[in-house]
Amino acid sequence: MSIAEIDLHSSLKKYFGFSGFKGLQEEVIKNVVNGNNTFVIMPTGGGKSLCYQLPALIKEGTAIVVSPLIALMKNQVDAIRAVSENEGVAHVLNSSLNKTEVKRVKDDIINGVTKLLYVAPESLTKEEYVDFLKTQKISFMAVDEAHCISEWGHDFRPEYRNLRHIIKRIGDDIPIVGLTATATPKVQEDILKSLGMTDAVTFKASFNRPNLYYEVRPKTKNVDADIIRFIKQNEGKSGIVYCLSRKRVEELAQVLQVNGIKAVPYHAGLDAKTRVKHQDMFLMEDTDVVVATIAFGMGIDKPDVRFVIHHDIPKSIESYYQETGRAGRDGGEGHCLAYYAYKDIEKLEKFMSGKPVAEQEIGHALLQEVVAFAETSMSRRKFILHYFGEEFDTETGEGGDMDDNVRNPKNQVEAQDEVKI
Ligand code: ADP
Ligand code: MG
Repeated sequence: MSIAEIDLHSSLKKYFGFSGFKGLQEEVIKNVVNGNNTFVIMPTGGGKSLCYQLPALIKEGTAIVVSPLIALMKNQVDAIRAVSENEGVAHVLNSSLNKTEVKRVKDDIINGVTKLLYVAPESLTKEEYVDFLKTQKISFMAVDEAHCISEWGHDFRPEYRNLRHIIKRIGDDIPIVGLTATATPKVQEDILKSLGMTDAVTFKASFNRPNLYYEVRPKTKNVDADIIRFIKQNEGKSGIVYCLSRKRVEELAQVLQVNGIKAVPYHAGLDAKTRVKHQDMFLMEDTDVVVATIAFGMGIDKPDVRFVIHHDIPKSIESYYQETGRAGRDGGEGHCLAYYAYKDIEKLEKFMSGKPVAEQEIGHALLQEVVAFAETSMSRRKFILHYFGEEFDTETGEGGDMDDNVRNPKNQVEAQDEVKI
């Protein structure tokens, strides 16, 4: 090991208490430390934060971190402060700070104490902040959740579009680090172009989840009974059932309860207290099943979720991947079962009809991929990974036989008919 490598390992231990790097972290970190533009694509939970936190702590100057979620920024700041002698090592700059607080942040930056400055993108548009930051030593700029820059991503935020312009104003040669868990080639291209870093070194981790089993069943009017049967066959295991609407969540949770299954509902229409209660019940295993809208899942870190059921098919492959990805985090069994009827696609199309045309077109294209996925007779894993720009060989790849199509190949009736005629 070179001196520099030993330093990285000892800093990792010192600041984070970890004894080794995960996946591509070490290579990414070296690239960031060397001041290059860097693009990091890793699935959720892959350890992206460390890729900018560690370089920020060891480099001279202050790193600016742009992130869309204030709650997540606060968590990260608290975690970093906890392992540092100086509270000023990390700050959040946002519109809720009063004058004294802003002065404190600025002083800490001027005095070289602050290594990480978290900023919401809308705060970065403030002239006062930009004028101040451009007089300071900025080590690099990290753009977390960088897919927010792309209309093809699942969480487009217009404020992200201005980032390149703002970064340029703060400093012409500030290295940029973009990070995302969205792996589609289109979103990646958007990010690189929009941030003006087509020269970036790209680090992409595999999105394969070999321990997940993928299955799609046709959705009939007996779907509820089918779900009940599935859950009873998996008694005592933890699982999530996703539904499109709050109403369906309530109804299905009740149906499950009536059938002797420990289930609770979760959606954004419930009051905060109930939501926290139901989430805790799931984490503490006081309930086996959470029936939920997509409001459930962000930041839920239960390692032993054994199944994820989609009562309704999601609106994109990314959503499907994110939501099924909550199963089997511990590496153990994770059954992903989705119910599919073309009627549900039409319903999703209808929801979009009020939106701007450009948005509808994108929504439609994403839905067509979902249709193709649901109706395919090829390996579902291969399909998903191909969607994310990754080639997968079912013969040699890990988890190659972990889906319904590979286990029970469909009869190629249509193809045969054609040959006969
Ligand atoms: P992402 O942003 O890619 O979704 P996070 O940065 O939130 O992932 O990290 C996910 C989890 O992995 C966190 O709990 C973090 O503490 C942990 N983690 C990150 N790097 C390491 C490491 N080198 N060793 C052990 N745990 C790690
Ligand atoms: Mg993250």
